[in-house]
Amino acid sequence: MSSTSLGKSILSTDLAQSRILLSRVSTTSSVMPVTIHFTQISMLALTADKLFTPDGTIERPLVLIDRGKVAEISSFSARALPPGSSLRSFDGAAIVPGYIDLHIHGAAGFDLMSGSTDAFSLIEQMLARHGVTSYLPTTITAPMDRTLTSLELLADLIEQPAEKREGRAQAVGIHIEGPFLSHRRRGVHPPENLLPPRIQTFERFWEASRGNIRMMTIAPELEGAEELIAEAARRGVCVSVGHSDADVEATERGIAHGARHATHTFNAMRPLEHRSPGILGTVLTDKRLSADIIADGVHVDPSIVRMFATLKGPDNTVLITDGLSATGMPDGHYHLGSLDVEVKDGRCIANGVLAGSVLTMDRAVRNLAAFAEWPISKAVATASRNPARVADLKGKGVLAPGSDADIVILNAAGEVLQTFIGGIEA
Ligand SMILES: [Zn+2]
Repeated sequence: MSSTSLGKSILSTDLAQSRILLSRVSTTSSVMPVTIHFTQISMLALTADKLFTPDGTIERPLVLIDRGKVAEISSFSARALPPGSSLRSFDGAAIVPGYIDLHIHGAAGFDLMSGSTDAFSLIEQMLARHGVTSYLPTTITAPMDRTLTSLELLADLIEQPAEKREGRAQAVGIHIEGPFLSHRRRGVHPPENLLPPRIQTFERFWEASRGNIRMMTIAPELEGAEELIAEAARRGVCVSVGHSDADVEATERGIAHGARHATHTFNAMRPLEHRSPGILGTVLTDKRLSADIIADGVHVDPSIVRMFATLKGPDNTVLITDGLSATGMPDGHYHLGSLDVEVKDGRCIANGVLAGSVLTMDRAVRNLAAFAEWPISKAVATASRNPARVADLKGKGVLAPGSDADIVILNAAGEVLQTFIGGIEA
């Protein structure tokens, strides 16, 4: 298709048959004759060995999908297929909710902060191949003008009409990781661009993003953090403590002001010390906080991932990738914001420090299941139901009547066989 092509969909519903007829009108260029294709789209029906719901596992399920939503979930043997529906059967597989990544910087060779429309598309296609159906593009600390430009571009991406984003993971909000971070625990975030927390500064980000910021990582011990945490929380942003050298008291003040999550637990945090537990003591034990972790086996030792999962439990454990542009690419040199990152044997290093990962979400789920000795269904919820709750994504993260038809088909080893986003095959 040329870049000048236009697509326009007209929907009409045959109520008697509950069928949708869709006629697609496309013009390949403004001077070429109009080509018209007629395609009949029926209700999609999926079956597999199992389906994981919030309440448990359904054996041999039947999932009916209509207009991008789950219409009905029942047992395959108990329900006749609606007339005109098309059935996809996945033997030996499980139907699970689509994965949601709250913390990702890029993939497929592209950084989300410098993304063009084509780059966004390639990143999102790769995410979908790894089971991610929604994600929060994540900015890192950068010069103010670069951050503002990036937030505007990401807002454009998020506000694109659905038909332009078909079959790709959907950006559903922005995570700002920085600039309100601790100098002592900045990781690879450039020190010259870190800023003290100020509502005025946040307001500039908020305006550039047109209110699309859904998550903010902040060090709660910084002067001015409490006021900003309260204001961001008031606007519905999930405030996450991280890149922090806080003691227990400062962390608790952050929670009292509205923080309710923790960013890449253990990484860029004051280490746990048995007579001075600091932020980690609170993050690991406070039931008001959910917390995320990079379960690649590199950022945190597998035995510590297991300890984390045991302490936070199946409801408050959240998987993220913190993935870089190098995800899905060979070893070499890549960018993270304005940083040069070298990737070798699955480790991403910038200026001698670990800088993000090349982890994919499907692997993170398999790793957590292996490290924590959890069944895959329990690990799946930490990449779907839990992040949906953290980012307040309504209709996502679970499969139930009325939810979005964001669905992943997994084989018995937890590998992705197929991804559906809004009922459309990716
Ligand atoms: Zn970080």
